[in-house]
Amino acid sequence: MSYATEEPNGSTSHIEKTDITETSVKMSYATEEPNGSTSHTEKTEITEASVKKVGCTHPGFIGGMCLKCGEKRDTQSGVAFKYIHKDLTLSDDEVARLRDRDLKNLLRHRKLYLVLDLDHTLLNSTRFSDVTQEEGYLMNPDDPMQDKLKGSLFKLPFMHMVTKLRPFVHDFLKEASNLFEMYIYTMGERSYALEMANLLDPGMVYFNSKVIAQGDCTTRHQKGLDVVLGQESAVLILDDTESVWSKHKDNLISMERYHFFASSCKQFGYKAKSLSELRSDESDVDGALATVLKVLKRVHSMFYDPVCPGILLVTFYYCALPIWAVLCQKG
Ligand SMILES: [Mg+2]
Ligand SMILES: [Zn+2]
Repeated sequence: MSYATEEPNGSTSHIEKTDITETSVKMSYATEEPNGSTSHTEKTEITEASVKKVGCTHPGFIGGMCLKCGEKRDTQSGVAFKYIHKDLTLSDDEVARLRDRDLKNLLRHRKLYLVLDLDHTLLNSTRFSDVTQEEGYLMNPDDPMQDKLKGSLFKLPFMHMVTKLRPFVHDFLKEASNLFEMYIYTMGERSYALEMANLLDPGMVYFNSKVIAQGDCTTRHQKGLDVVLGQESAVLILDDTESVWSKHKDNLISMERYHFFASSCKQFGYKAKSLSELRSDESDVDGALATVLKVLKRVHSMFYDPVCPGILLVTFYYCALPIWAVLCQKG
């Protein structure tokens, strides 16, 4: 298998490709080249007879088998990276090594990391059964509003759901992807997360396999950056729910909630009519995503083109303070 390999365009992607049999493990494992380049993968064929287990630090396991030497273990320490491969765990040292390597790559491409929540941040979903009478037009293909909603309203019968993308989301992702390495991180289930990722990024250019869902979290009801292969201090998070990021408040930019559907307003105790019932929507040009994009661009330029480069870089590198917290303190 190979993971976290560098794409030709400089973005990092996680590729899931395994072929494990009883007697042989074929894997290409991302290793650092002597010249410091990280763009090549080393293809190793390991058989039980030829494997050299002595001295292996066991950087990670897949299905109980060491990624590097093939040794089998019943229990493995480290962090599970299920969204990369369902049976993958990586040792703390290996995670640190990959983060360090990725950071160098990131800085070379003048990018930072951006972790994006789904519900109420990039989109709003509701169950078919929760669609109110006043929202009935959303389900009627002959309604004149359908033209306006084309490309942003999606009926997903197999999930009994309807999803509305937040206005400006496609422009947001396109522009943000030039400045950030992006992850989706949701408390939703994996199947839902992948469906939403497909609506947001049908060409799989922004997220690829960097879609983290509830089952990937290592602490119940909490989102953690421990499963993100990015240096914590270089991560910005956009989420409407602050409470799930209790360990990473300094990385968080709190988003104004997007409530399109009536059920969403009801869930959060709003008595007013929903945007859908009013046949209205957030503004494209000065809605929440357009506004936060300006903030993100500012953070990026303050980091890469700062007025006083020394102070910012010293704080970032030596104090390992999240870039967002550093900039906030600077006002
Ligand atoms: Mg949310
Ligand atoms: Zn090993």
